[in-house]
Amino acid sequence: MLDKKHIKYFKKLLPEDFVLHEPGDCWAYGYDNSKLHVLPECVLFANKKIQIQEIIKYCFTNNIPITTRGRGTGNTGGSVPIDGSIVLSLEKMSQILNIDTKNRLAVVQPGVINKKLQDMLKEENFFWGPDPSSQDYSTVGGNIANNSAGPRAIKYGTPRDNILGLEFVSGTGEIYKTGVRTSKGVVGLDLTRLFTGSEGVLGILTEATLKILPLNNSIKTIEVTFDDISSASKTIINLMTQPVTPYKLEFVDKQSISLINTIKTNHYEKNTNSAILLEIDGENEYINIMLSKIITVIKKSKFKKLTIAENQIDINNLWSARKSLSPALRELGGYKINEDIAVPISNLTDLLEKLEKISIKYNIKIVNFGHAGNGNIHVNLLFNTEEEKKSENSIKCLEEIFDLVLSLDGTLSGEHGIGVIKKQYLNKEIDKNTLTLMKKIKKQFDPKNILNPNKSI
Ligand SMILES: Cc1cc2nc3c(=O)[nH]c(=O)nc-3n(C[C@H](O)[C@H](O)[C@H](O)COP(=O)(O)OP(=O)(O)OC[C@H]3O[C@@H](n4cnc5c(N)ncnc54)[C@H](O)[C@@H]3O)c2cc1C
Repeated sequence: MLDKKHIKYFKKLLPEDFVLHEPGDCWAYGYDNSKLHVLPECVLFANKKIQIQEIIKYCFTNNIPITTRGRGTGNTGGSVPIDGSIVLSLEKMSQILNIDTKNRLAVVQPGVINKKLQDMLKEENFFWGPDPSSQDYSTVGGNIANNSAGPRAIKYGTPRDNILGLEFVSGTGEIYKTGVRTSKGVVGLDLTRLFTGSEGVLGILTEATLKILPLNNSIKTIEVTFDDISSASKTIINLMTQPVTPYKLEFVDKQSISLINTIKTNHYEKNTNSAILLEIDGENEYINIMLSKIITVIKKSKFKKLTIAENQIDINNLWSARKSLSPALRELGGYKINEDIAVPISNLTDLLEKLEKISIKYNIKIVNFGHAGNGNIHVNLLFNTEEEKKSENSIKCLEEIFDLVLSLDGTLSGEHGIGVIKKQYLNKEIDKNTLTLMKKIKKQFDPKNILNPNKSI
């Protein structure tokens, strides 16, 4: 139970509407997309770093845990206030401070919505690489904390590849600055990459200097279908071992195809086993040369049907098939576990064939789709009831999937992170020694363990 004196202090420190403590007002700040919910006793907002410093210093002295929150779209409970945490929301700290196209950089506050930034950059014919599908709602701070990226990560990388420098407040209330404002720089340890993807356990991000790039003016969209997984995998490998790197390269499996066909009647031909949807980007003058190279590569392996979008209607049609998957899964009703594992692309065939066997063994329907170019596959386990989802059978099935992924040199999370939901599986991937080192590093940043305690590591 949070002592009333703390709320009194926060009300003195912050503007009146920056402190919530009525349960009805706090409710919406208790969950994220993991569906976990814990009602916080107090929600604070800050739009200046001095406020964040003062809040942390006070919480440090009084041993109050803090859960930092962007917009709560995370999938693993990272912004859910477990263990009696108060919530510190950064949604009001949302200014774009500088767009400097000459030096290919933008300086932003953490609460900026990704899409708002992309729209501002587009006016200058620039973009920031990371494009999570939640970009209309998620914040750049959340994207950086979770190292979140979307389809174009295959060519343009994740936040770790697209940040020049950061500013954050540590668990003692001190401000630290990392990185450079130049496109090269090797002075000191690379704290920028350490902080990026650290899921809010090392500090609270207050400013980011992002690496931005000029937009290409032309895109080509292609769909290829296959009779078997191994031809799809071969094509993905062929595409990734030649110089015209796809801008996006998405994959859907047999189960996904039958789901899509229920919504977009017979988008895929009968007996289609799998499909890829890819895009290339380039300048008008070169795009058709790039396209013909890509077609030559695709034709090297066995495929069923090749569709090149001729116009915007075709492009929308191809993407709407891929994008209809999530709503189709929702319409099925029932319950699902949505994993986001990744394996080296040379192991994709093995992964998908073995997942099929696991599905039969445990009698659980598994639907696979995702960012094939990164080997990052969303493995969706579907259940009819909550009991089935929580059953021993489902837990064993999930364990076997994780063991399979690790045996194929993969990772348990390609993009969603660990948060609370996956913490129990962390030691499958990270050995004891290395995990101990990570915990020691956290202690340097946050000696009293008040920032997102008991999450991530
Ligand atoms: C429909 C949908 C689609 C999605 N698609 C993708 C996708 O394509 N790719 C992908 O990677 N993810 C995806 N996600 C997951 C999610 O959107 C991302 O993890 C996103 O980056 C979270 O941003 P947020 O602002 O909502 O952060 P939150 O969920 O509020 O927080 C996420 C984590 O970041 C920490 N945090 C937030 N702000 C700060 C800060 N300023 N300083 C320190 N720590 C902070 C929080 O404590 C928490 O641990 C999707 C989610 C949904 C609901």
